[in-house]
Amino acid sequence: MSDKVLVLGELRDGVLRNVTFEAIAAAKKIKEDGEIVGVICGDGDLGEQAQEMIYFGADRVVTVSHSDLKMYTSDGYAQAVLSVIEDESPYGVVMGHTAVGKDLTPKVAARLESGLISDATSIEVEDDEVVFTRPIYSGKAFEKKAIESGLVFATIRPNNIPALERDESRTGEVQSKDVDIKDLRTVIKDVIRKASEGVDLSEANVVIAGGRGVKSADGFKPLYELAEVLGGAVGASRGACDADYCDYSLQIGQTGKVVTPDLYIAVGISGAIQHLAGMSNSKVIVAINKDPEANIFNVADYGIVGDLFEVLPVLIEEVKQL
Ligand code: FAD
Repeated sequence: MSDKVLVLGELRDGVLRNVTFEAIAAAKKIKEDGEIVGVICGDGDLGEQAQEMIYFGADRVVTVSHSDLKMYTSDGYAQAVLSVIEDESPYGVVMGHTAVGKDLTPKVAARLESGLISDATSIEVEDDEVVFTRPIYSGKAFEKKAIESGLVFATIRPNNIPALERDESRTGEVQSKDVDIKDLRTVIKDVIRKASEGVDLSEANVVIAGGRGVKSADGFKPLYELAEVLGGAVGASRGACDADYCDYSLQIGQTGKVVTPDLYIAVGISGAIQHLAGMSNSKVIVAINKDPEANIFNVADYGIVGDLFEVLPVLIEEVKQL
C-alpha cells in the first residue's frame, strides 16, 4: 500500500492560503511516516510556492502550470488533480474546506468513485484506521468517521489543525508536471471583486462580529476600530446583514462563513443556533450584550453584560494601552 498523502495547495492571488499548511499537518497525522506530496495548480512559475510548502513540511511538491489553470474552474483543476493522483497512487488526499475545496474535492472523489470526509476538525489514527471528527447539525454534535476502503480523502476546516512550524532548513524535490487540459465547459473571463480592506475574515486570528444590537452601519465604526487595534477582521450576524448595517460578505454562520479564530468577540449578537454554527469552535469567545439571558453567553468564555456603545470605547482604550 502506498504511504503517500497528497496535499492540494490553494493559491489566492498567487499566495498559498494558510489552510494549505494546516492540511500538510493533517496529512502528517494521517500517515506519520508517509511521504507528504504537495500539489499546486496555477499558471506561470510556481517554484516559490512549492518551496513554501516544503518549509511547512511537504517532502516533495508537484506543480501543474497551465494557462487554463490561471483561475480556478472545477473542470480544469479536477483534470490536473486527477492526473497527479493517477501518477502518484496515494494513500490519502487532503485539502482545506474552503470554497474551492468544497467545490473541487467532491468532483475528484466522484470521478475516482472514492469516499470523501468533509470539514474535519481533528484526526486520530486508531489501530491503523484514520478517524476524522466533523461537526454536524450546525455544530450541535460531532461525528467520528472513517473511510472503510480506498483513498483516504478529506477536507479540513481552517484554523483547527495547527500548521507545523515554518522551517527554512527543510528541503524537498519540486517536480513540474504537464497536463493536457481539455474540453473545459466553463472558462472564467474576469473576476470583479468587491473592494475589501484589512484582514481576510475567514483566516483572521481575531474576529469582532456585530449583530442587530449595533443598530446601524455607523454603529459598526467602533468594531472596526477594535479590529484595527487587535489586528483582526470584522464579521457580522445575519441579523446585521439583513438590516443593511454591513455587507453579506461579513456574515458568519450556517449560511455564511465558518470562522475559528483564536479570539471571537460577539457584539450585540443574541447567539441564535444558526450564528453559533459559524463561530462556536473559536478558541476564546467574548460576548458583549445588554441582555444577561442572551444565548450567546452559553457559549462564551467571557461575558460582559452592558451597553456595547459604552463597553467598546473602554475596551479600545484599554487595548491601546497594552
Ligand atoms: P438579534 O437576535 O436581534 O439579537 C440582537 C442582540 O443585541 C440581542 O441579544 C440584544 O440583547 C443585543 N443588544 C441590543 N442592543 C444592545 C446594546 N446597545 N448593547 C449590547 N447588546 C445589545 N444568522 C446568522 O448570524 N448567521 C447565519 O448564517 C444564519 N443563517 C440562518 C439560516 C436560516 C435557515 C435561518 C432560518 C436563520 C439564519 N440566521 C443566521 C438568522 C438567525 O436565526 C438569527 O435571526 C440572527 O442570527 C439574529 O441576529 P442577531 O443576533 O444580530 O440579532
